[in-house]
Amino acid sequence: MPEGTRQIEMTWRCSSCSHRNLGRHAVCEQCGNAKDGSEQYEMPGDTAAAATIDDPELQQIAAGGANWRCFYCGSDQRRRDNSCAQCGAAPQAPPAPRAGQSPDRGGWLQRARAWVRRHPILAGAAALLVVIVLIYLWINRTRTFDAEVLAVNWEQKILVDRYQIWERDGWRQELAASAFEVRSLGQAIHHYEQVLDGYDTQHYTEKVACGEDCQDVPERCSESCSANNNGFATCRTTCSGGGRSCTTRYCSEARTRQVPRYRQEPRYAESVRYRIWDWGYHRTAVASGSSTADLRWPVEQARVGLALPDGEQERERREGRYSVTLGYDDAERVEVLVAPDAFERYALGSRHELTLQGSTISADGVPVSRVGDEP
Ligand SMILES: [Zn+2]
Ligand SMILES: [Zn+2]
Repeated sequence: MPEGTRQIEMTWRCSSCSHRNLGRHAVCEQCGNAKDGSEQYEMPGDTAAAATIDDPELQQIAAGGANWRCFYCGSDQRRRDNSCAQCGAAPQAPPAPRAGQSPDRGGWLQRARAWVRRHPILAGAAALLVVIVLIYLWINRTRTFDAEVLAVNWEQKILVDRYQIWERDGWRQELAASAFEVRSLGQAIHHYEQVLDGYDTQHYTEKVACGEDCQDVPERCSESCSANNNGFATCRTTCSGGGRSCTTRYCSEARTRQVPRYRQEPRYAESVRYRIWDWGYHRTAVASGSSTADLRWPVEQARVGLALPDGEQERERREGRYSVTLGYDDAERVEVLVAPDAFERYALGSRHELTLQGSTISADGVPVSRVGDEP
């Protein structure tokens, strides 16, 4: 069956006498009833067996376009005829819809519904996106409260470093020039070194192309027919396949390769214990409290630089941590860390503006971190 198109003839059953007429007839061959909208053209049950139209006159009708329906008597007329064979009327469009009933009324809603019916997956995705955006906006909405300070806690530390003689262990080759009273502790493993120990033969397989596997693909043709709305149908034959289809064949080939093998070898060095003048951590003094009124540094406990032996020095570092528990929205509470210079404003019972947005907390307009979330 070659590719191409052909015309076949359809049939229609007369609604007056039930006679089956060929598509070429516009009026019933048996009773003279003109074909109208109540009589549909029917496709032959087996289109493949239907004869191809080769009469030039019929071919012209088949290719001449769809029938038109007479607006006055309802009968079907050939495209090429410019007046109704039954009543003589000319082809005419039906009158426009009555005024006052706007055809565009609710038009956008209908178009939207039609679009949703045509693209259900796209419409579902759009709806899901809208829900996600709404949830995101709800979670990140800004809420502001008038909050009260329910509790405060502070801790201030002085960390003391001292310049003194320290006893340390190290390696002879890395000893500082200022080290003294150096005693040997003997040889010890300083580090390991990777040393090439030889090669191992490794077997593996590799896939290589080794020919083709081919198959004949049979040609398959099929014919589908669609009505011309004039008593005839156009049948189109399309074919696929034919020829050969080939795929590359792969084979496994055994191969070998040499892989380097390493061993770890210890490298020894002389370990020493020595003394040296240097800075190092010595002690911490801590003060803490639960009121902004008694905030202080533990200067008396730290005693930085007091009564030091000859040659020794001290220096200090200071660290503070200031937490405030804010009550808001009746029974809610949150404990946050505030900056050292802001802490004195958070006296017990004082009121502050608390802003919550997503996971961000601000007190009096300054971002603060929740206790437990600190870096
Ligand atoms: Zn009839
Ligand atoms: Zn007519």
